[in-house]
Amino acid sequence: MKLPKFTFGIGDRFGHQGQAQLRALQKAAAQGVEVSPVWNKSNREHNLIGTEPSALRQEADEAVAALGWKAPYFVDADHINLKTVDRFLEASDFFTIDVADSIGKQPDPDAVERLVAKHAGEPLDYPGLSKPILRGREQVSAAAGKFLAAMQEAGEVYRHIASHKSAGSFAVEVSTDEASAPQTPAELYLILAMLADEGVPVATIAPKFTGQFNKGVDYEGNIADFTREFEDDLIVLKHAAPSLGLPEGLKLSVHSGSDKFSIYPVINRLLKKHGSGLHLKTAGTTWLEEIAAIADSGEEGRSLAAGIYADALARYDEVTAPYATVLHIDRAQLPPSIEIASWEGARLSRAIIHEQSCPDFNPHVRQLFHVAFKLAAEAGTKFTDLLKQHDEAVGQAVTENLWERHLKPLFL
Ligand SMILES: [Zn+2]
Repeated sequence: MKLPKFTFGIGDRFGHQGQAQLRALQKAAAQGVEVSPVWNKSNREHNLIGTEPSALRQEADEAVAALGWKAPYFVDADHINLKTVDRFLEASDFFTIDVADSIGKQPDPDAVERLVAKHAGEPLDYPGLSKPILRGREQVSAAAGKFLAAMQEAGEVYRHIASHKSAGSFAVEVSTDEASAPQTPAELYLILAMLADEGVPVATIAPKFTGQFNKGVDYEGNIADFTREFEDDLIVLKHAAPSLGLPEGLKLSVHSGSDKFSIYPVINRLLKKHGSGLHLKTAGTTWLEEIAAIADSGEEGRSLAAGIYADALARYDEVTAPYATVLHIDRAQLPPSIEIASWEGARLSRAIIHEQSCPDFNPHVRQLFHVAFKLAAEAGTKFTDLLKQHDEAVGQAVTENLWERHLKPLFL
């Protein structure tokens, strides 16, 4: 399935903000930029909250019907593998096949030889690349040692999905963003070659980029390095996809893409320069808007939010463990719960909201809340009733966050 040029992943952990999220995309459409929503939720998030993929499908369908959205939209089985894909087969039409765990697995030596025979050759020097892509025997077998087993596994997962869904009825993303090391543009080229050999009609690819993409906060790393790498990746996709026989419009996917304000101008400029498409995933940023708005909604909301913070501090290891590689929390910067409990709701809300110029903003508090959504799930209807009671204020915050802080700087 061919995806629209721009797609935008919107995660909605508690399933209440589908319309508020879609309104942000309507604002983009009104400004002449068509960005299609992809509602994404990973297996891990479904498990932590206790939901099924069918609920996400229902939310997406209802939001689209209620707001009269006529452009395409998708429901993403986010970060699935062979063990977890089955529960998503019916409800999803976008599958993010995550093979990061298989990077570095020993490949079959004959398969490595076949890859070398097919793809080794002269360096590729596409116009604009910062340096040519070397693909001698040495480079191809080194890449095979890292990625071939993983891409063969992606092929296996793809064929499993394709045996249950009709051809052309779903889009495929392959992700390696949760790997331990970033992939270079040259490695990206060889990964695409491996996927092409496996017959995976990959529509978006999510490499691990250089620098840190921590949850819910800004990019941490060298922006000049990121800029060079991102542009090289765009050039690789533009030229390699047609020559490898991969689908037209193959594009990059940026995971943990919310709140990376310092690199949005770079991404915006390079997409325009190369006429490239993009998929960018956000998820927890919407839950953070919910909890920040609830904290400022009155005494009940303030005390619930302060209580979640206290629990998250007390259960710090448990709540942070699943996200350890994508968090950068300095525990010394986390105020004690007794202090947070003494704050007014508006003060707590300002600590969470991602306004870097606000002196009360605290990225460590924000990251802790980011991973504490599980505790809101434990609060059950106490939390969701507040969401319903204050749905206008919460929805407005959700829409404005996606529109003003994300879609506008990325695409306009
Ligand atoms: Zn990811």
